Amino acid sequence: MLDYFSPDYYFERFDKISVEFLKKNGIKTLLLDIDNTLAPYQQAEPDEQILSWLNDLKDNGIGFAFISNNTSGMRVKRFNQNIGAPAYGDSCKPFASKTILRALSELSADVETSAFMGDQIFTDIWAGKRCGMRTILVPPIKDLKNPFFRFKRWLEKPILNHYFSKNSIT
Ligand SMILES: [Mg+2]
Repeated sequence: MLDYFSPDYYFERFDKISVEFLKKNGIKTLLLDIDNTLAPYQQAEPDEQILSWLNDLKDNGIGFAFISNNTSGMRVKRFNQNIGAPAYGDSCKPFASKTILRALSELSADVETSAFMGDQIFTDIWAGKRCGMRTILVPPIKDLKNPFFRFKRWLEKPILNHYFSKNSIT
């Protein structure tokens, strides 16, 4: 169980994931969570850091799509308006296999050379694993302070401990 939910890679921030790392590991496509992975909930538009990282991916032929659980369609639309990537809101991760496969087909990508990146084990990481793809975990930028989130993070703890007992931060 601990192994099943462990991510394949862990990075301290999204922009520590380099094109070089992706190429070395045969990852040609990234499926990206938005909230708390790329930007805090309150940040409606991508900032310079996000845009420059995404441009670097694009310039190097790495495809990407946004797969968000945010139930406000506007959130995803606005975040993506100057980027124009395949983008899906309200995608019900971890039960997002249909959406994920649709995004992959839009990008002419396959599960073997794709990875799912996000900040939540039982949402993002599980969604990627259910589709048989590799997964990359990043810590949340800033968690919402509510009991539901605290509970989710508490559930994640044994898995993180397990991961770090075998790996160091990439
Ligand atoms: Mg998130």
